[in-house]
Amino acid sequence: FSAVELATEFLQRAKALNGQLNAFITLNEDLTLAQARAADATRAAGHAGALTGVPLAHKDIFCQEGWRTTCGSKMLENFVSPYSAHVVENIARAGMVTLGRTNMDEFAMGSSNENSYFGAVKNPWDVNAVPGGSSGGSAAAVAARLAPVATATDTGGSIRQPAAFCGVTGIKPTYGVVSRFGMIAYASSLDQGGPIGKSAEDCALLLNVMAGFDERDATSVERATEDYTRDLAQPLSGLRIGLPKEYFAEGLDAEVARAIDAAIAEYKKLGATIVEISLPNTRMAIPSYYVIAPAEASSNLSRFDGVRYGHRAAQYDGLTEMYEKTRAEGFGWEVKRRILTGTYVLSHGYYDAYYLQAQRVRQLLANDFAAGLAQCDVIAAPVAPTAAWNIGEKTDDPLAMYLADIYTLGVNLAGLPGLSHPIGFAGNGRPIGMQLIGNYFAEARLLNAAHQYQ
Ligand code: GLN
Repeated sequence: FSAVELATEFLQRAKALNGQLNAFITLNEDLTLAQARAADATRAAGHAGALTGVPLAHKDIFCQEGWRTTCGSKMLENFVSPYSAHVVENIARAGMVTLGRTNMDEFAMGSSNENSYFGAVKNPWDVNAVPGGSSGGSAAAVAARLAPVATATDTGGSIRQPAAFCGVTGIKPTYGVVSRFGMIAYASSLDQGGPIGKSAEDCALLLNVMAGFDERDATSVERATEDYTRDLAQPLSGLRIGLPKEYFAEGLDAEVARAIDAAIAEYKKLGATIVEISLPNTRMAIPSYYVIAPAEASSNLSRFDGVRYGHRAAQYDGLTEMYEKTRAEGFGWEVKRRILTGTYVLSHGYYDAYYLQAQRVRQLLANDFAAGLAQCDVIAAPVAPTAAWNIGEKTDDPLAMYLADIYTLGVNLAGLPGLSHPIGFAGNGRPIGMQLIGNYFAEARLLNAAHQYQ
């Protein structure tokens, strides 16, 4: 296949199915084919790398020069980025071809993709089900084979949970492994980009080009580049898997628990041993995260003021009213809820009670993981308490939506890597994933474990 043929094939599929799934916000055939032609020229010149000409989809949170970059928001509905994110640059340099920009919860705030200004994404396994969020478009696109792989981001579960709900694989790397430059900020101390693919191997290949030091991100980690495929073939004999008892307690759906039991039995057959561990502060992850993430969001989203770029109200009387109307019109309800919550917890008089307390709890959660990971090589856990729920089921109840994030938030608060891979199906045919959590920079080990299972 030429890159042009491959891109054309995927674009046809995307165009045919996007009406049903709404996985893409933007498809732009001209831009796609220009990149594909360039990839073919590179191949003809004999300079092709492993991924030259391989198509992918980008979550609409990564700025990409020349492409509309909306972040799922009316605020950026007509924003065409003048520059590309570090991740987008790296991927382009590898010769990969952008098929389009995937749908997402507005500013990555959500767990079901129903918070997108561009409408909900449908789960390809069951169009009545949510695909998960916030990277629901990326997960749905890969699951429906509209793209072989996709970029995504994870602030509190947004790679792992949609991967689980859509029956694909995704990995959130250690905080600092993937540059946040040009990745529209939600909660900067938690945000991390990563790949979604149909297998651990595909994720490893894409992570190889996404990762890397970038001086434009002050939290980018300066360390030697890794080949994340290097350990895929390693046998698992002797691998110690830790099962945190707090993750298998009340609240976990029986079908999900059974699927994880069965997966653990498989891992034992592959040579793993099981140890029970304890992460005693688990229940504090939700209150801590839902203070810290909105606090950072309220600060990050202050840049959307109608002055420099993005939406601006058509009519206003003076600067203050321009701000007010622009933000009232440009942001959806969940984003407004987060900005209000974040502004409140940071305000004078409440800062110590909420924000500082949440930071202390964050450290306790990191300490829990450090103690747990001293007893095992990887932690196995559910990704979410249930398989995908119905579209509309939780939209009137933000708290119920937040509670469904219980098993993913801690990983971001601690800055650890976490992976989700498919292990089975619920009785209604909806996929179930399992989470693997490792120590800092243990991405290759997580990918190895998932690859051996798959
Ligand atoms: N569901 C979480 C939230 O709404 C996590 C989202 C994410 O990881 N971007 O904040």
